Amino acid sequence: MFANESEYMKITDIKVTPSLGAANRHWSLLKIFTDEGIVGLGEWFADASIEPLKRMLIGQDPTNINRLHYDHLWQMQGRGAGVEIALWDIRGKQLNAPMHELLGGKLRDRIRVYCDCHSGAHWTREDYERRWRETRASGQLDPVYETSAYVSMAKEVVAEGYTAVKFDLDVPNPWKLDTYDRSISRRQHQHIVTTIESLRHAIGPYTDLSIDLHGSFNLADALRICKDVEHLDLLWLEDPIRWEWGNVAALAKICRQTETPICTGEIFYGAKMFRELMEQQACDLLEPDIPRSGGAIEIRRIAELAEMYHLSLAPHYMRSAITGMAAVHICATLPNFLALEHHSRNIPLWSTMLDIKNPIQQGYMAVPDGPGLGVDLDEEAIAAALPAGVPLWS
Ligand SMILES: [Mg+2]
Repeated sequence: MFANESEYMKITDIKVTPSLGAANRHWSLLKIFTDEGIVGLGEWFADASIEPLKRMLIGQDPTNINRLHYDHLWQMQGRGAGVEIALWDIRGKQLNAPMHELLGGKLRDRIRVYCDCHSGAHWTREDYERRWRETRASGQLDPVYETSAYVSMAKEVVAEGYTAVKFDLDVPNPWKLDTYDRSISRRQHQHIVTTIESLRHAIGPYTDLSIDLHGSFNLADALRICKDVEHLDLLWLEDPIRWEWGNVAALAKICRQTETPICTGEIFYGAKMFRELMEQQACDLLEPDIPRSGGAIEIRRIAELAEMYHLSLAPHYMRSAITGMAAVHICATLPNFLALEHHSRNIPLWSTMLDIKNPIQQGYMAVPDGPGLGVDLDEEAIAAALPAGVPLWS
């Protein structure tokens, strides 16, 4: 029997912030309003209109999250996952229960976080593109990509308490012999291997070290890197080749031929896209992105599938602290959770945008126990990211 329609909570409005600017990686936040006065916090993609979302959701019951996911949100992939976060927040506030409790309960009280350092300087798209242009013009390695700069950054981050760090080594360099071909020159190979060796030496044997190659290289040269760093005990080497659009077997070949653990998965949405990867045993660890790969529903399905193959998850994550808190709740419930990415150490707003300031302490985030996400926004701090006169919500 269906309850009388008037007994359902209803979504009455949805508002989003404009892009919080390039300095804040163009994050856009989302609020879902209901007729019971409960407001859910989520995240949006700044380049997308919310009018179609409003047409979809206004008047609907926000508390049946599965129904809204399978009716609508899955088709919006990562954008839908950011909306799903707000639905969990609403449901938790209605039931006076933290999000992790709605997902069956937490397995841990704090979430291990690893710091994505990029290089001797943190990554921004703008800096990265500029450094490639300048390197091609000058023929000189940018100072932030010197081995010594990586080592300084590693020491600084480990001193903050992180137990795991990640660096990129497919970076602007003067030794690349062709702009388009994915070969690694012998000089570049030496720089990559030497830098990883120096990082391992700098952080010692007990801090975890991962390296991301973003699928920048061809199979033969990527495999050479994997084999030449086997003695350096990486936690993982990420995306040696860009295999996603048509060749899982190529990644499986790398995986079979090296002892370096291979991690991948930040591009795909939804559990179905991860099936072949696992069936072919083409990786050793998975890094679904939150929210690009899914919210609680899809990430938990991916994790359950991965667990059948004895794989741990280290979710990829680059968005605001609201999605970060949703990730903390999700990760708290996964038996095969390894570590959550933190890619925003260089974005001050990440640490100030919530009522809980500096949520990362000594490389961990506490799992909130308040209703829903268990956090609120510091709207004053967030509004300061916008030009004067631009409204925060519309
Ligand atoms: Mg990556």
